[in-house]
Amino acid sequence: MVIVMSPGATDDDIAHVVERVESVGGEAFVSKGVVRTIIGLVGDIESFHHLNLRTLRGVADVRRISDPYKLVSRQHHPDRSTVWVGPSGRQVPIGPGSFTFIAGPCAIETAEQTVEAARMAQSAGATILRGGAFKPRTSPYAFQGIGAAGLKILAGVREATGMPVVTEVVDARDIEIVAEHVDMLQVGTRNMANFGLLQAVGEAGKPVLLKRGMSSTIEEWLMAAEYIAQRGNLDVVLCERGIRTFEPATRNTLDISAVPVVQAASHLPIIVDPSHAAGRKDLVVPLTRAAIAVGSDGVIVDVHPNPETALCDGPQALLGTELRELAQAVRRLPPMVDRVDARELIR
Ligand code: PEP
Ligand code: MN
Repeated sequence: MVIVMSPGATDDDIAHVVERVESVGGEAFVSKGVVRTIIGLVGDIESFHHLNLRTLRGVADVRRISDPYKLVSRQHHPDRSTVWVGPSGRQVPIGPGSFTFIAGPCAIETAEQTVEAARMAQSAGATILRGGAFKPRTSPYAFQGIGAAGLKILAGVREATGMPVVTEVVDARDIEIVAEHVDMLQVGTRNMANFGLLQAVGEAGKPVLLKRGMSSTIEEWLMAAEYIAQRGNLDVVLCERGIRTFEPATRNTLDISAVPVVQAASHLPIIVDPSHAAGRKDLVVPLTRAAIAVGSDGVIVDVHPNPETALCDGPQALLGTELRELAQAVRRLPPMVDRVDARELIR
C-alpha cells in the first residue's frame, strides 16, 4: 500500500502517519520529493484498513498495490488451475491446455426433451451436460423451472449418458438437494453478488460455475469467486456471459477481452457462454470461434431438440445445421491454439 501526502503536508503530519502505521505492527518507508512525500507501507493490509488512513491530516490518497482478492489471484498462485468435474472415471478437466465443451437445454422440461438434448450435445462433442431445474427469471410470471423434478431427470440422464451435469442453484436452501443430483453448481449472473449464496456453495463440496454479474466489473467478479474460495472451495470456474451495454442488437455484449484479462489476474479457469451473451442462435457459432481464438478454457452452449416449443430461451438454442457448425468449430479450432479436446483427458 502507498500513501500519497498532499503538497501542504507538514513533518508532523508525516510523523503521525508513520506512528499510526507502526502502532499496528506495520513498517512505513518515507520518500520525500520536492513537492510531495509518499509513504510505502509493508505489513498486514487488513490492519491498515482499520486505521482509516484517508482521514489523517495531510493524506491525499491511499493506493493498494496488491490484488484485493488473494486466494483466486495469480500473485500468490502463478500457475493456472484445472478444475475437474464429475465422478472418478468420468472426470472432465476445465483449465489450461484443454478445451471443454458444455451443452444442454436452458431449462429441463421433460425427461424426453432432456435425453434428446443430451444426445445432441454429446454427438456434437460436449463432455458436460447443462440444464436448469431452478430458473432465475427476471419476471415472476415467466417459467421458473420444474425444480426438484428437474434434478431427478438430470440425474437419470447423467446415468444414461455418462455425462457429468451442471445446474444452477438460486436459493441456498436448495444446495443440498442440488448437490446430491449433479456434479457442478452454477451461480448465475443475477446471483453473482448474493454473498450468502456464494458462501453456501463454497461449503457444498462440489465445483462451482460462477457467471459474471451482468453489470459487474472483473474485479467484483473475482471478489465473488474469493467468497467461494474463502469457504474452502477453490474449484471455481468463471464464465463470461456478456454484460449490459448501450447496444440493443444483442441481448448482452460479450466481453471477449475479459478472458485474457481474467487469465492474467486469476489462476481460475474461465469459459464463455455465447448463448446467453447474444440471445440469438445465429451469433453462437461466430462467438464460439472468437472464444476459442482468445484462449477460453471452454464454452457452454444452449441446445434444444425443438427450440420452437422451448419454455426458456428458445431463440438462442441450437440444433441442426448450426449445431453441426458448432461441433466443427469446437473440434477444429482448439488444436490450432494448442488445446486438447477435454474428451481425451477424461480420467
Ligand atoms: C443460464 O445459464 O441458464 C442462465 C440463466 O444464465 P445467466 O445467469 O448467464 O443469465
Ligand atoms: Mn437461459
